[in-house]
Amino acid sequence: MSGINIGVLAVQGDVVENLMSTRLAINELGMQGIVNEIKSPDQISELDGLIIPGGESTMIGHLSLVNGTLKKIKEKVEAGMPVLGICAGMIMLAKKTKDRVVGEMDQPLLDVLDIKVERNAFGRQGNSFEAEISLDNIGISKFRGVFIRAPAVIDVGKDVQVISKFNEKTVAVKKGNIICTAFHPELTEDLSLHKYFVSNINRKN
Ligand code: GLN
Repeated sequence: MSGINIGVLAVQGDVVENLMSTRLAINELGMQGIVNEIKSPDQISELDGLIIPGGESTMIGHLSLVNGTLKKIKEKVEAGMPVLGICAGMIMLAKKTKDRVVGEMDQPLLDVLDIKVERNAFGRQGNSFEAEISLDNIGISKFRGVFIRAPAVIDVGKDVQVISKFNEKTVAVKKGNIICTAFHPELTEDLSLHKYFVSNINRKN
């Protein structure tokens, strides 16, 4: 089939919601494409874009390390494949992480984006919340941010662009083919972020 081929890493977390939002985004943009769950490393080479969903980054990291998916994703992202990391997905893409309570963390990461992420930066489960945010630099002036045990970016390397802040904390960043959000766009009906991601993907295969 012609069209773009997008994957949603399906180890754990908000997989189904991201499959749905991405398919709807492709439709609304009038593009052609398929969106599939990614469970094994051999599915990665044919992808044009990947979403790493929210969930539990320690679990996503360990399980993807064991079956070799982590290594394949890293190679593909370093070769320029567009990737959207959401919440735990943002943590996975980072170079370094620490937990707000536990401190420095040593968990498997992709280490493809020069940022340091603080896990649970807004508190734990009880502190999940929704807030109006904006991502003006990518043309989204108003967005409902759903924050669930959300991380925040506490250090950004050179050339990493901050695209959204909430309460002085950095909650979305971008560099080249990589975009990360601390909040969950797949849990709103607003498709603008998924559309932004999809519209920047070109078919390569
Ligand atoms: N606190 C989670 C983590 O570390 C992320 C939460 C989320 O993805 N909603 O991994």
